[in-house]
Amino acid sequence: MDDTAPSRLITGIGELTTQDPELGTSHAAALVIEGDRIAWIGPASSAPAADASLDVHGRAVLPGWVDSHTHLVFAGDRSAEFAERMAGRPYAAGGIMTTVAATRAASEAELRAGARRLRAEAAAGGTTTIEAKTGYGLDVETEARLARVGAEVADVVTFLGAHLVPPGLDRREYLDLVTGPMLAAVAPHVHFVDVFCEAGAFDVDESREVLLAGRAAGLALTVHGNQLGESGGVRLAVELGAASVDHVNHLSAADVDALAGSGTVATILPGADLSTREALAPARLLADAGVALAIASNCNPGTSYTTSMQFCVATAVLQHRLSLEEALAAATTGGARALGLDRGPDAVGTLRVGGPADLQLLDAPSVAHIPYRPGVPLTIATWRRGVLERSPRLAPPLE
Ligand SMILES: [Zn+2]
Repeated sequence: MDDTAPSRLITGIGELTTQDPELGTSHAAALVIEGDRIAWIGPASSAPAADASLDVHGRAVLPGWVDSHTHLVFAGDRSAEFAERMAGRPYAAGGIMTTVAATRAASEAELRAGARRLRAEAAAGGTTTIEAKTGYGLDVETEARLARVGAEVADVVTFLGAHLVPPGLDRREYLDLVTGPMLAAVAPHVHFVDVFCEAGAFDVDESREVLLAGRAAGLALTVHGNQLGESGGVRLAVELGAASVDHVNHLSAADVDALAGSGTVATILPGADLSTREALAPARLLADAGVALAIASNCNPGTSYTTSMQFCVATAVLQHRLSLEEALAAATTGGARALGLDRGPDAVGTLRVGGPADLQLLDAPSVAHIPYRPGVPLTIATWRRGVLERSPRLAPPLE
């Protein structure tokens, strides 16, 4: 198909998952892309003419993933630390400094190249909206560099200067830096402020201070909370009306109640749960309590070095015991909500007429194959804002 044609018809869709409450899931479907938007959705038998067309022969189409939590901009790798952890050493927050040292030493061009490579890898796996955090600089100059690069490669950028107090620095002085000059330096490039509210990182009062400073600078709030213990991060996120609290491995009954009555999304990070061998986030419990969920990759070199949202969705079904429908929603509309991108004409995470043409094509007849075929890269084409990011090499029609 000529993907530069003004209108492009994708037809022969065996199963079309829209995540739109009215359109639901349909079969023998088609859709038309015009520019960066979806112009038409309906039965393949009544599809309108278009300037170019692609018959996908019974394959499944669904919205592109909305990956609402990554640490995409960094240098170096931590495979040695990972191997040690797999040999039995427990995860602690301090390994971040290994990446900080490598990131500070890298040029902006090196950081940009690395982030672009991961962004392309994510797109090939079906991700069409991605967030990226700072937090591997922890000084004003490097955090500003990470924010600039993040704004180039990601759709949403989050300031995570409060990732860790660098060893040797006074806590009070570092907090003043994060909430003062560092925040001012990154603010033009970022949308959210985040804090690692955890033993070994920042306590609840320090985290509140960071978040309120970000809010005063016009940023929305998100929290890394309750990953290694009941850190109070969940309750703080709810108290301040944060868009999302992420990790949520260790929750009290009161934490679950607080989330259930709130507008705060609980984001589970299956890649991190596996790569740290931490207790799995209680996603089933949260879903049953009516908590809004997102699933994200948490792509980072320490604890979840994957861009594969398909892997995270499959894991959420196979290990966290979400239903496929719950996991798909969490990885699309849930991520959109966590990023504040769930409203208005540009809302992401659903396929609907007039909405962004952010979609992926699976080399499978249905989304059921995502958890059914774990580890198999099923996405063979991704359109982001109508642009084909990966060319489909279509095999013969699916039976
Ligand atoms: Zn993270």
